[in-house]
Amino acid sequence: MVMTEAQLEAMRARLQQLLTETTAEISEIDEQVRSFGASEQDSSYGVDNHIGDQADVVYEQERLLSVRDRLADRKALIEQAIAKMDRGEYGYCENCKRPIPPDRLEALPFARYCIECQADMDRRQGGGWR
Ligand SMILES: [Zn+2]
Repeated sequence: MVMTEAQLEAMRARLQQLLTETTAEISEIDEQVRSFGASEQDSSYGVDNHIGDQADVVYEQERLLSVRDRLADRKALIEQAIAKMDRGEYGYCENCKRPIPPDRLEALPFARYCIECQADMDRRQGGGWR
């Protein structure tokens, strides 16, 4: 075991806090996206008028949705981390099963992999076309 019971409990509280914050941020974005949709019903969805405004709205909506995607990903990771805690697997790399260094968990409480495995995966996923 890498962490003491007290450390684990503190980490669980942090994760729960993060989960609450992230859930709130997601519903805030949903609210904004909804209000965009409402104002858009007034204008005709044509390409010919208000091209500038429309493009701004579309851009803003896409930006919000990509932020929402990232938040939803994070929420899923936080939930997984809490589930790992319940199973007593928290703090171990899901790939190599070695303990994740405490500083990494401190910086990223919902980290799934150790630094080496994460770097490895980033290389494989992002390599080449970026
Ligand atoms: Zn690893």
